[in-house]
Amino acid sequence: MNTFRLQLRFLVPLVLTLVAAAYLALPLMDRLMLRWYARDMNERGSLVANSLSEPVAAALADPDGTRLQTLLNRAAKDDRLVAIGLCAGDGRLLRRSTGFPASLTCRKVQEAALRAEPLLPIEGGPVHVDVYPINAESGRAADLVLLHDMSFIENRSQATRQYLIILIASLGAVIALVTIVVAQLSWRGWIAGARALLRGEGLLNPMFPPKPELAPIAAELRARLRELDDEYRRGQGPEAEWSPGRLRTLLRTNLRGDEIIVVSNREPYIHEEAPAGITVKRPAGGVVTAIEPVMRACSGTWIAHGSGSADAQVVDAHDHLLAPPGRQEYTLRRIWLSEAEEQGYYYGFANEGLWPLCHVAHVRPVFREKDWDAYREVNNRFADAVVSEARSQDPVVLVQDYHFALLPAMIRARLPRATILTFWHIPWPNPESFGICPWGREILQGMLGSTILGFHTRFHCKNFIDTVDRYLEARIEHEHSTICYRDQDTFIESYPISIEWPSPASYAAWPPVEQCRRNVVQRLGLAPGAKIAVGVDRLDYTKGILERLHAIEHLLQTHGEWIGRFVFVQVAAPSRSSLEEYRLFHARIRDVSARINQRFGNANYQPVHLLTESHDHEWLNELYRAADVCLVTSLHDGMNLVCKEFVAARDDERGVLILSRFAGAARELTEALIVNPYHVEECAGALQRALTMPEAEQRERMASLRMTVREFNVYRWAGRMLTDAGRLRLHQRIEARVQRHQITRDEAPLLS
Ligand code: UDP
Repeated sequence: MNTFRLQLRFLVPLVLTLVAAAYLALPLMDRLMLRWYARDMNERGSLVANSLSEPVAAALADPDGTRLQTLLNRAAKDDRLVAIGLCAGDGRLLRRSTGFPASLTCRKVQEAALRAEPLLPIEGGPVHVDVYPINAESGRAADLVLLHDMSFIENRSQATRQYLIILIASLGAVIALVTIVVAQLSWRGWIAGARALLRGEGLLNPMFPPKPELAPIAAELRARLRELDDEYRRGQGPEAEWSPGRLRTLLRTNLRGDEIIVVSNREPYIHEEAPAGITVKRPAGGVVTAIEPVMRACSGTWIAHGSGSADAQVVDAHDHLLAPPGRQEYTLRRIWLSEAEEQGYYYGFANEGLWPLCHVAHVRPVFREKDWDAYREVNNRFADAVVSEARSQDPVVLVQDYHFALLPAMIRARLPRATILTFWHIPWPNPESFGICPWGREILQGMLGSTILGFHTRFHCKNFIDTVDRYLEARIEHEHSTICYRDQDTFIESYPISIEWPSPASYAAWPPVEQCRRNVVQRLGLAPGAKIAVGVDRLDYTKGILERLHAIEHLLQTHGEWIGRFVFVQVAAPSRSSLEEYRLFHARIRDVSARINQRFGNANYQPVHLLTESHDHEWLNELYRAADVCLVTSLHDGMNLVCKEFVAARDDERGVLILSRFAGAARELTEALIVNPYHVEECAGALQRALTMPEAEQRERMASLRMTVREFNVYRWAGRMLTDAGRLRLHQRIEARVQRHQITRDEAPLLS
């Protein structure tokens, strides 16, 4: 339609120009022809006059006019002559040939002959008049009048006009044809250019096949793009706040609504069978807390293991479900795993192997071959699911965590143009520790299928780069933080994960802090008026729950004044309880808590309240708001979201955060009381300081912490990754074009 309009814009002026040209050219041409023929007639007239001059002069002398008449009649037989007349010097018509109009007088003839266009209208059409003197010995004897036929001029002029019109029309047709072809080509070229520009490929013209001699320029271009990238990253100053709206804008601009697929082991909603019917649960854990807001903002597809007992009952024929329940903002695709698969892939390789391997928590990793086989197989199944869910050849795939170390390379093999962002939510160990893994090379190769590989801290990025350096033949560009392995570049970057900062409406809906405190005291049967410290974790040996209990025991032992005036509430959500290490850990925590309660408690007072159930966010938020102190003492933690949730909950700017220096969050939340969780006395000392901290200092520290968490929220985490993804997509397209020297599939039909 647009092409047609474009062509009309060319053709209409063209037709008008041609009509105008014909309008001007035809009368001009008529006049020109008339002049040519007039000259021609004059010459012919002179010839006729010359040849008749003598015989006419002789015939005039003959009193018998028959000879003169015959002479004139014969001469007038010339095709181009209508008639011939002979005028006397006194203006009488002496003789006329047949066809000479009787009404035509010599005077009329003489007058006409003097005009610039000596034409006379007679019956049968206009005639051209020529007058020549006939001289005798005695002087001028008469005037010879030649009436030339004009009709042949008219005939010829008409024929010429026809030819001219045909010529102009043919010329018009040829120009129109050329215009249409050029318009088509430029339109297609423009469309292709515009599409390429939209995809960020407009810097190179797809219509000109690149030449091999461009290779050095391509390399130069690539290097320059990298430098620009580095400058961009270095130059990033304080940013405007990230919000769902800004994230949505980013998805619309940088990724122009590109398809987003998330892969994680844990699903955001679990459907369970219950006596009252099917219930929906939100599982505990940082990954789900962080990804859900992103998915809501971009309406993508989330692929995860369907682990709930009623999960299969609520999906459609394609294992799809719209989430969140009742809001339906994105698609959840569930993958079903057999018990053996789950045992090998999840509990075995991921949680008995990789989890302790990556966390320095002094629990030894266990690697079994059958677990490795299951891990590979399940990664493969998720790769199949990604391919089947992908509606395009180049989706943006967000691969979450250590359950899918092999997935990036598997997706890359099937969808080479995909942008794969892998985020490793747990720490990365040093090369020596990583060397324990029997399939370390395969793990690294799998991860290097990613376009971007993200960790929480620069320290984990450095560990990963060092590990690759140690075990693979890869080119590492430290200054660009890029690893090139088998012609595939992976950008290694730190993206500290965070939480969704509560909206003003959420804050308004929360009960006041005092109310929260009363509710918690009442619900848990805590000693009224006591200082409350809280810990919220999955029941995991990396969280430092035991070390926390040791510190509390030491505090009560050294600061007896707190007995009866201090309580510690530990939420320990059950996790991986089928693993022996976790069961033993649970038992240990239970025993140590019981020992402390026995040692310092009585019938009315229990210093430690161990809650080994999972609690929802609302419940936890009330607990955070009720607390005087929050203890996060992880032995090793990628980030830790609980400390950020505590800060977000405290709009009263009270409460003290004690934070392990081995949690990734310690790099951001420097106003917390930073501790070494292994050091019992240091932790107990921090607890004492927290419990006695003046309100002004609490406010000062909390206000600063809140500013940090508010700015470095989960939308920033996702936004920075997706911004980098958008930029790398642009680079990859340019580089692919330069390297492969070919036109993209989108443009091929247009240019064919
Ligand atoms: N959590 C929860 N219910 C519980 C215990 C924990 O919803 O009973 C949530 C908690 O609010 C936090 C997440 O689980 O959002 C734990 O994330 P974190 O990064 O601290 O540790 P991870 O479990 O990811 O190792």
